[in-house]
Amino acid sequence: MKSPAFLIAVLGLAVGPAAAGQVDLPEIVSLSRTASTAAKLRTLELDFLGSREGRLFVAARPRDLARLEAEGIPFRFETPHLRSSAAGPGSPGGPIGAYHTGLHLERDLFDLSSKHPGLAKLVILGESLERRPIYGLKISDNVALEEDEAEVLILGCHHAREWISVEVPFLFAKFLLESYGTDPEVTRLVDQSEVWIVPLVNPDGHDYSVRVYRYWRKNRRDNGSGVYGVDLNRNYGYKWGVDNLGSSGEPSSEVFRGTAAFSEPETRAVRDLFLKRDFRAVVSYHSFSQVILYPWGHTTAPAPEEPLLRELALRMSELMRPVNGRTYAAGQGIAMLNYLTNGDTVDWTYATAGVPSYTVELPPIDQLGGGFFNAEKDIEGIFLENAPALLHLLQWAVDDFAARPPSLPFGLPDLLRPRLVIPRR
Ligand SMILES: [Zn+2]
Repeated sequence: MKSPAFLIAVLGLAVGPAAAGQVDLPEIVSLSRTASTAAKLRTLELDFLGSREGRLFVAARPRDLARLEAEGIPFRFETPHLRSSAAGPGSPGGPIGAYHTGLHLERDLFDLSSKHPGLAKLVILGESLERRPIYGLKISDNVALEEDEAEVLILGCHHAREWISVEVPFLFAKFLLESYGTDPEVTRLVDQSEVWIVPLVNPDGHDYSVRVYRYWRKNRRDNGSGVYGVDLNRNYGYKWGVDNLGSSGEPSSEVFRGTAAFSEPETRAVRDLFLKRDFRAVVSYHSFSQVILYPWGHTTAPAPEEPLLRELALRMSELMRPVNGRTYAAGQGIAMLNYLTNGDTVDWTYATAGVPSYTVELPPIDQLGGGFFNAEKDIEGIFLENAPALLHLLQWAVDDFAARPPSLPFGLPDLLRPRLVIPRR
């Protein structure tokens, strides 16, 4: 039997992240990126938020600040300035204002599917670690049937604190369903495709971000020793853990990749959906940075079909700009973000099926514009500027499907379905 003091210490650790929310809030600091600090920074496993004018912004815990000091890397506190400009949650409308909690999302997804029974089908794709359902909404004409139509996958909220990344996929689902029958373009696209929308891949982390600690990023895997969370966008199975630059093997890291590829039920839910179907395009929403990223993330080398990936991304960006005047830069991960990622969603979907796969980092462009704290009044505008890009990608998928129908019909056992290996065009 351990002493009470020991138990208290252990319990203290066990609720570490909760306590962390009160006593261990990160500071936002900025660093200048120089040739001499770049290599050191890569080894520090910092929680990078973005960059602006040559300065990197980091959510730094006291531990990180100590490491920066020990390495002699100068930094500047940005938190007080940012607090004044960042729009926080909590205005009337719900527990987190205009944003969905997991429960509100569940209710609204049920509402959408029951209001549009011929067009929308709500499916539980899997369960999170804490047994929350991970919902997928399938949208198509004759939704109950498996038709030979182009399939597109839209994902939101791998990262808990990126609340806006729930709203854009959800609002796109609502838009498709409410415009069907009145908007000829939407009607035609819904008739010719099957759109799968998964607005909340990480319900446990999101809930934790809502209730306990707004900056929480990972899922809620108990890694032992009071350390929680796997970065779901480093847990996919292509080039998983290929190096320690694009992810971390350290459980306390914000980019901890987990103990194996697809070790987490949340990524397995996405994987299992993806492997059962014939998706022709994928978008995974994140925030923030206001960019459209395409594979590869794990290397600086270009993807096999880089020209196609780039052309589609640039077109999407062009369609987005006129809506609110915001420019989403488009490019390969490393070129846009200055860091590598391995085990991310879109590297895996691209490697598995060879289909255009995008990470869209929603606005703002940087921490100074609000970072993760988009004002509630901006939700709709951010959705509206993303809608034309999604419709374009959907049209591209419909055309691609017409040009290259599957070689085997649906309804065959999964094992007989062709798995495509890149490059396939
Ligand atoms: Zn993210």
